[in-house]
Amino acid sequence: MVVNAMSVHVYLLYCCGSICLLLAAFVGLMDFQSVRQKKALLRFEAVSGLAMIADGMSYRFDGNTQGKGMVLLHIATLLGFVFLYLALYFFNSYLLESFMSTGRFHRVPRRLLSVFVISMVGMTMVVLDLIPKLIYYFDSEGHYHRGPVFTLAILIPIICILTQLGFVLEYRERLKKRVFTIILTAMLLPLFASIAMIALEGFVYLDLSLGLSAVFLFAITLSEQSRSLVKAANTETVTGLPNTYGFIHEVDRMADSGEITKYNAYYFDIVRMSRYNAKYGKDTGDTIIINYAKYLREHVQPDEIIGRLGGNYFVGLIKKENTDSFLKMLAGVPVQVKVGNAIETIFVAAVAGGYKIETKSISGGQLLGHIATAVNYAKNVAKKPCVFMDQTLEDAIREKRQLEQTLCVALEQKEFFPYYQPKVDMKTNRLCGAEALVRWVHDGEMVAPMTYIPLMEQNATVCQLDFYMLDCVCRDMKTWIECGMNPPRVSVNFSRKNLGNPILAEEIARTIKKYDIPTNMIQIEVTETLDEFPMDYLVGVVKALQRYGCSVAIDDFGTGSSSIGLLKEVAFDVLKIDRAFIDYHGEKEKSLLSYIIQMADAIGISVIAEGVERKEQMEVLREMGCHEIQGFIFDRPLRKEDYEARILNPLYKEPDLE
Ligand code: C2E
Ligand code: MG
Ligand code: MG
Repeated sequence: MVVNAMSVHVYLLYCCGSICLLLAAFVGLMDFQSVRQKKALLRFEAVSGLAMIADGMSYRFDGNTQGKGMVLLHIATLLGFVFLYLALYFFNSYLLESFMSTGRFHRVPRRLLSVFVISMVGMTMVVLDLIPKLIYYFDSEGHYHRGPVFTLAILIPIICILTQLGFVLEYRERLKKRVFTIILTAMLLPLFASIAMIALEGFVYLDLSLGLSAVFLFAITLSEQSRSLVKAANTETVTGLPNTYGFIHEVDRMADSGEITKYNAYYFDIVRMSRYNAKYGKDTGDTIIINYAKYLREHVQPDEIIGRLGGNYFVGLIKKENTDSFLKMLAGVPVQVKVGNAIETIFVAAVAGGYKIETKSISGGQLLGHIATAVNYAKNVAKKPCVFMDQTLEDAIREKRQLEQTLCVALEQKEFFPYYQPKVDMKTNRLCGAEALVRWVHDGEMVAPMTYIPLMEQNATVCQLDFYMLDCVCRDMKTWIECGMNPPRVSVNFSRKNLGNPILAEEIARTIKKYDIPTNMIQIEVTETLDEFPMDYLVGVVKALQRYGCSVAIDDFGTGSSSIGLLKEVAFDVLKIDRAFIDYHGEKEKSLLSYIIQMADAIGISVIAEGVERKEQMEVLREMGCHEIQGFIFDRPLRKEDYEARILNPLYKEPDLE
């Protein structure tokens, strides 16, 4: 067939050339997994585009198919063929990515693999054909002719397209509708164009089919690119699960479809994650999280959602009928980790907050708010593995928030003040110290510390309160000294929450020095529970306080879980035996009390018993060698004025003991 439709051909070459250049620019912007593939594609698109445009120009300026134009015509036709195969290859890659991203294929399906191979073979065939000229050739006058295997060269892409088409149709339910429609259109158009070309034997149809497929490929590329961008923004990189935005997006999508009420939502934290990190190292810690996420993903249904918000925080959207099985998983799932050369299985448990979704009009953001509140409540207040948010809990939380606000205002307005509970030396029956205990008068009523201290510990406002109390005590102490009274040492409670403060000892010393009183007039009481901060923190603070001259007491000794271990690590000055030990029942408990006193004596720590109410308790303690006592038997916590009277009259007489 002779090339004679000159102007149509020139414009088509311009058109295809421009599309190639456009594709080259676009490929340059795209994220390819293989950089080499990206570069090769980019070069190919750019060179073939330029060649096609140059070819078109040569026709225009030569005015015939002879001379310079002949060479370019050769190149452009060759590239035209190769471009057809490459387009096929490129399109196959996208098809594959679309399937793989649905998470159902973990290996390249054979049929698609064969398309890759066929298109590569086709490209090679076209290039090699430059010599035997079996596909096409130009005669001495520059006329274009089809060779004996021309139809085969065109049939190969048609076979590939049909293979892809079959694949797409077979797995259509695994593709999103939008992707399915685009893929189908982009395949059918060049297919029809190629069939038409064979039927009509017109060279221009080849260009037309290439042009159209390029345009559609471009459209698909663009839509896939934006889709993968959205996917990346919604995905947490370590586990590949939806992140916060991804989770919110999924909830909103389900709310729109009305499906959401079939689900319960959960927010859950892996417990002991910081211990795993400390024990196995951060990399193994990451592996634990990855394997945990994988286990959950594999054990929930495809239409249920597991997301990771970051750190050890996860979320889930689980069907209501699967509540029991999911809660079982939260209680512990086996996760394997490599430790040295061995594989260890650890049971990873989580604490969760749940929410039963009853309304379709809930947004992702609102839901996240509910479950975050519920998990906080489960962890910090209820201390249960899972708490479901309901009206009662919502009311309790609202009340708690109100109380928190009231407490903040109370702190600002200095509504707190110290009561002093005397400590008595039983050898002399004299006042030998006192403990400052906070009191809050709210709406004319005295509120017991245990109703608000735990709450203040949750949001760390307790640290502010402790320093405020220390300030009050130092001020009182200064006044007493200036008045010529002889006040004994006062101990101030410091919540363990303060251990997060890296300059805690310095700040305490600075507060005491501000009032210019001797630092040994103040003792700091800390409780032994060390669930939040490592032992090193406490060791450091105690040593620093002692350097500044303050003594440190361990409060409520015996109520936690690490009493003896703590004494080994930390050099406390005073051990305060908890009320629970004083109020003993039976010989066993009495022996325990006796051994605690002996142990303290053996390791050189002074001991004081708190909560002594009865005379026989006092006598037993005296016999056991504990001579300092704080308890209602001598005094309840006293108002400042009453305590001042005690300082002035420090001797407790026998009637006080009745
Ligand atoms: P704690 O430090 O162990 O204080 C001793 C508690 O035992 C005080 O209760 C005191 O009134 C009570 N108590 C003393 N002797 C007896 C007795 O013979 N019988 C009975 N039944 N109770 C006795 P309070 O004042 O209600 O304080 C409770 C807890 O609140 C304190 O326990 C302490 O953990 C905390 N607390 C009090 N003031 C502060 C403070 O300023 N800062 C911090 N962080 N916590 C404080
Ligand atoms: Mg105390
Ligand atoms: Mg105590």
